[in-house]
Amino acid sequence: MSRAVDAFMADVVAKNPAEPEFHQAVREVVESVMPVVQANPIYKQAKVLERMVEPERVLMFRVPWVDDKGQVQVNRGFRIEMNSAIGPYQGGLRFHPSVNLGILKFLAFEQVFKNSLTTLPIGGGKGGSDFDPKGKSDMEVMRFCQAFMSELFRHVGPNTDVPTGDIGVGGREIGFLFGQYKKLRNEFTGVLMGKALNWGGSLIRPEATGYGAVYFAQEMLNHKGDSLKDKACAVSGSGNVAQSTVEKVLEFGGKCVTLSDSNGTIVDMDGIDAEKLLWVMELKNERRGRIREYCDKFKGAEYLEGKRPWGVKCDVAFPSATQNEVLEADARTLVDNGCICVSEGANMPTEPAGVEVFQNNKICYGPGKAASAGGVATSGLEMSQNAQHLYWSREEVDSKLHGIMKSIHAMCIEHGSEGDHVDYVKGANIGGFTKVADSMINQGVV
Ligand code: NAP
Repeated sequence: MSRAVDAFMADVVAKNPAEPEFHQAVREVVESVMPVVQANPIYKQAKVLERMVEPERVLMFRVPWVDDKGQVQVNRGFRIEMNSAIGPYQGGLRFHPSVNLGILKFLAFEQVFKNSLTTLPIGGGKGGSDFDPKGKSDMEVMRFCQAFMSELFRHVGPNTDVPTGDIGVGGREIGFLFGQYKKLRNEFTGVLMGKALNWGGSLIRPEATGYGAVYFAQEMLNHKGDSLKDKACAVSGSGNVAQSTVEKVLEFGGKCVTLSDSNGTIVDMDGIDAEKLLWVMELKNERRGRIREYCDKFKGAEYLEGKRPWGVKCDVAFPSATQNEVLEADARTLVDNGCICVSEGANMPTEPAGVEVFQNNKICYGPGKAASAGGVATSGLEMSQNAQHLYWSREEVDSKLHGIMKSIHAMCIEHGSEGDHVDYVKGANIGGFTKVADSMINQGVV
C-alpha cells in the first residue's frame, strides 16, 4: 500500500512543486483512503483521487490599494475553488503575510473533507491574501477589502462560492467585503458568512469553531468514560478560535491555563475565567493588542517570550493558532506531561511526526478536519437562514452545532475504530472522502 501512496505522491509533488503544506495535507488523506480506493475499482477507474487533488479552479489576482500616507500598495489575492461535488464552494479567507498558493491549496483540500463531514451540502474552497491587517488603520483595512472584493465579486455568489473568515479575517473584514460586494452587484444576498447579526449573520457563527473543538474533545473523552470537568487545558492562539474555546471549556467545568500569539505564550495556572476572557476579547478584538499585556493586568500570570504553550503541563490541548505549530518534540512533551486528549481548532496544526507520537501513544487525537468543522458547519447554518430569510435563536444554532459535532464524531468511530481505540485521522479522512467520491462518480467526468 505504501508503494501506491508513494507513487501517487510523487506525481502530486512533481505537478505542484514548492508547496510543502499541500503535499503534507494530501499525503495524510491518501494514506488513509488508498485502501478504500484500491478495494473499489470504480474509484480507481473514475480517477477520483487524481481529480480531487486538482482544484476545479484557481484564481490569482492583483490587489492594488492606497495606504494612509497616499502610497500605492500591491498585494496578491487568491481563491481556490477546490471541489463542488456536494455543494457550492465554502471556506475561509485568510489575510496573513505568510499566505501563498501552496498554503491556500492545503487549506482548500482540507476544507473539502471537513465540509463533507459536517453532513451539510457544502463544497470546499479557500482564499485570501498576503495582506497583513496587523498595524493597519481601519480605513486601510477597508480600502484593502474593497480592492480585494473588486475582483473577487465576479467569482463568488450564494450558489457558487461562499467565503467566510479565517486568520486575519473577522467581523470587521467581513463587513467591508460584504459592503463592496453589495455595491458592485446591487444585491443583498448571502454571499459571505460570519456577517454581523444586524445584516444577515447567524448567532454563534463567531464562536462556532472554538465551541465545536470543545464539543469534539468532550465527545472523545466521553467515549472513554471521561469528561472535560476539572481538566487543565492548554490553548494556543488568542484570536477567534482560541477565545471561544476558552469560553466553552469553562462551561464544561475545565480550566484553560494558556493563550498565545506569534510573539509568545501567557501561562495562568489559576485559570482564565470569564472575566479575564472578556478582557482578552477587548484586548484582541477592539484594541488589537498583544497577549503579553495579559501579565501586566493579571498578576501571577507568566509570559514566555517566543514560546508556544506545549511545555505547560495539561490534560487536554487545543491548538488554535496555525498550521504546524505542534512539532514532534512538542507532541512528546505533551504526552510525557500526561496530556490525554488533543482537539485541533486550527487547520493541520500538528506536523506529521507529531501526529504519529499522539497515535502511537493512543491518546484521543481529533484532527482539525473533524474537530475544527464547527465553524464551517455554522456557516452552512447561516446559509440556510439566509436562504429562508429566517433567524434562529442562539439555543437553536448551538444545539444544531452540537448535533453536527456529535455526528462527525460518530462518523469517525464508524470508519476509524480499531478495537478499543479510535483512529480519528483515518475515520475523518475516509468518512469525508466517501461522500465526495460517490457524488463525483454520480456527476460523471467533470
Ligand atoms: P485569528 O482570529 O486571526 O487568530 C489567529 C491567532 O493565531 C492569533 O492569536 C495569531 O497571533 C496566532 N497566529 C497566527 N499565525 C501564527 C503563527 N505563524 N505563529 C504563531 N501564532 C500565530 O484566526 P482564527 O480564526 O482564530 O484561526 C485560527 C486557526 O483556526 C487557523 O488555523 C484557522 O485556519 C483555523 N480555523 C478557523 C476557523 C474560523 O471560523 N475562524 C474555522 C476553522 C479553522 P498573531 O496575532 O501574533 O498573528
